[in-house]
Amino acid sequence: MFKLSNRLSLIKPSATFKMMGLAKELKAQGKDVIGLGGGEPDFDTPEFIKDAARAAMDAGDTKYTNVDGTPALKSAIIAKFKRDNGLEFKPEEVSVGTGGKQILYNALMATVNKGDEVIIPAPYWVSYPDMVLLAEGTPVIVDCPAETQFKMTGAQLEAAITPKTKWLIFNSPSNPTGAGYTREDLKELTDVLLKHPHVWILSDDMYEHLVYDDFDFVTPAQVEPKLKDRILTVNGVSKAYSMTGWRIGYAGGPAALIKGMKNIQGQSTSNPSSISQAAAVAALEGDQSFMGEWVKAFKSRRDLVVKLLNEADGVECHTPEGAFYVYPSCAGAIGKVTPSGKRIENDEDFVTYLLESQGVACVHGAAFGLSPHFRISYAESEELLTDACQRIQVACGALTGEVAAA
Ligand code: GLU
Repeated sequence: MFKLSNRLSLIKPSATFKMMGLAKELKAQGKDVIGLGGGEPDFDTPEFIKDAARAAMDAGDTKYTNVDGTPALKSAIIAKFKRDNGLEFKPEEVSVGTGGKQILYNALMATVNKGDEVIIPAPYWVSYPDMVLLAEGTPVIVDCPAETQFKMTGAQLEAAITPKTKWLIFNSPSNPTGAGYTREDLKELTDVLLKHPHVWILSDDMYEHLVYDDFDFVTPAQVEPKLKDRILTVNGVSKAYSMTGWRIGYAGGPAALIKGMKNIQGQSTSNPSSISQAAAVAALEGDQSFMGEWVKAFKSRRDLVVKLLNEADGVECHTPEGAFYVYPSCAGAIGKVTPSGKRIENDEDFVTYLLESQGVACVHGAAFGLSPHFRISYAESEELLTDACQRIQVACGALTGEVAAA
């Protein structure tokens, strides 16, 4: 009989994609659903980027490329790292993959041996621990609750490091909390890392450009250049250029690591789409001024959802520094009872209740390793967000302290 691999039993389906799929399915059935589950900007990909893709197709740019990226895209990435982060890379220190996700996967598959530990601050993006598990590593989760603004301290990092630690996965601004590490926050971590030369740093900078209120984005290799030869700096065009479907992620790091990642990619997916790569060149080299408008819109949406969510009974929402997520606590709803008599035991029950009663799709905190919370992606119009938050207020207001009499 056909049997799936043991490896598959180590992981679960991506909770973000599961929720996005469910919301789409319900909408297709004609249900009135607002999908705030997936992290995807609602803006269209800018026209000049699409033009570059059309031009690439017309020019016959439709064949295999170098496995880890075209020379043109690598050169655009090198210029981006220099311009935005003050980092210098050579072409052999740059890799392009099918989304940031594949870059992370390649890096872990190329480096992690059975039993190697990977430190992951929680809340974390849903795919980090599962990728580590697929690579036969051991995720070491460090709880970073709301009380410490969802950020890991130097002392926490120090305590988590063992002789088996291979990587720290660092993500700022964070998916799912939007928390951003200041230079000082980050220096605290890099000071610890300097003392432990066997630990490498995987910095996921995917939300670099989406920061608000004059927050100053910094990346580990910038804060501590002495660590640069053990840092992989990961980024991509998905969020900043609204190009999620184009699937282009990239990284800069030590040549030996980049070569290992290329081998993994060469034996799995080969090059990312040639057309998407041409579009990414245009994105990185083109006029970046549209981004200012997007950031303004995101900030205003953030302020709106934070305000409206804080008005919902039992919900407490912080104001994040970046990304397009909020990660409110729903502690005040746990233990309460829905109008249909179901007790809310945990954050998964809570998001199920929001979806079933009000048609609002978001992702439960347990999927990101910190409960009781839920993640809302506010990359939607203010109109839709207002509607969604009002529905959440209604749902929360309908919860009671006791099981309704039958
Ligand atoms: N990164 C986005 C999210 O967290 C897209 C889905 C995924 O890759 O998980 O929602």
